[in-house]
Amino acid sequence: MQQSIYDFTLDELKEQLKPSFRAKQVYNWLYKKYASSFEEMKNIPKDLKENLEKNYDIQLMQIVKKEISTDGSIKYLFKLRDGLTVEAVLLLMKKKQIAEDGSIEKSEKYTVCISSQVGCKVGCTFCLTAKGGFVRNLTVGEYISQIVNIKRDNNIPENKSLNIVYMGMGEPLDNYKNFIKAVKIFSELDGLAISRRRQTVSTSGISSKIEKLGNEDLGIQLAISLHAVDDELRSELIPMNKAYNIESIIDAVKKFPVDTRKKVMFEYLVIKNKNDDLKSADKLIKLLNGIKAKVNLIYFNPYPGTSYQRPESKDMVKFQEYLIKRGLLCTIRESKGLDISAACGQLKEKEMNGNS
Ligand code: SF4
Repeated sequence: MQQSIYDFTLDELKEQLKPSFRAKQVYNWLYKKYASSFEEMKNIPKDLKENLEKNYDIQLMQIVKKEISTDGSIKYLFKLRDGLTVEAVLLLMKKKQIAEDGSIEKSEKYTVCISSQVGCKVGCTFCLTAKGGFVRNLTVGEYISQIVNIKRDNNIPENKSLNIVYMGMGEPLDNYKNFIKAVKIFSELDGLAISRRRQTVSTSGISSKIEKLGNEDLGIQLAISLHAVDDELRSELIPMNKAYNIESIIDAVKKFPVDTRKKVMFEYLVIKNKNDDLKSADKLIKLLNGIKAKVNLIYFNPYPGTSYQRPESKDMVKFQEYLIKRGLLCTIRESKGLDISAACGQLKEKEMNGNS
């Protein structure tokens, strides 16, 4: 099977294509003009085009399903070359605002949530992806293809930057090598030019890998799916917590280099009568003491077959206000895409069950 052209950093392509300035031109076609064939690369000589055709695959993953939410978010289901599927979501964070004179007052802001693996080893009990077990890691090209596909499908201009969150299906730090390479390709100035500060890795807390990532000093942002403040509940929600407990995660985060203007995000999935009480809030404050932290409370998004329940809004607000009053930055995540199965794995599940 040919290797995907999206698997390579610019330096790697420079090694493979001679003269090396051709690599920059190819990168330009792929990432600024979203070329779908080598044929359309007008400034590339015929013999090099033939070489590219012969040795590289330029096809992006196929979009097999798309759900558009009333809030503008779009959920994608992609088919990989071996027929497996993964999801990604385009979140419209801010809509375009047009002034009275017709000019653009504020342009739209996008965040794309991308997948790292088909399935997942972590086994979170609240997650649909976990139900199918682990199948395989995504290749570098499959990481890249999610963003190029979404930019192309929505005609997002090449100079329009977006944020990337590695938070879809799978655990990015369990696909470490490919994930790191994807971060580098995304931030390539001659390519998509998505600054590393706009890229956030969301991890379920593999502390040894958090430490390793910190040592690489890539300049990306960190988000931790903490969800609980004691090991007993956390191990119930995230079985991998038995191997990497809360203390080890907090220790690793303390060593992680955080940009001066940024904070480490702690995701806290609020489940009714499980972790929505003020005693948990107190423990959380203690735990995050000494960390430049921000807490993001997430409503548990129920799906068929779960016994967990969505918390009451008043309890969420109470929890949030309690943290804020005690000096901790805390937001409640808007449930974007609530009407389009936005929790990871839900679209894939629907497709497999034949629901549309
Ligand atoms: S929530 Fe994320 S880390 Fe946990 S099982 Fe699902 S995909 Fe894996």
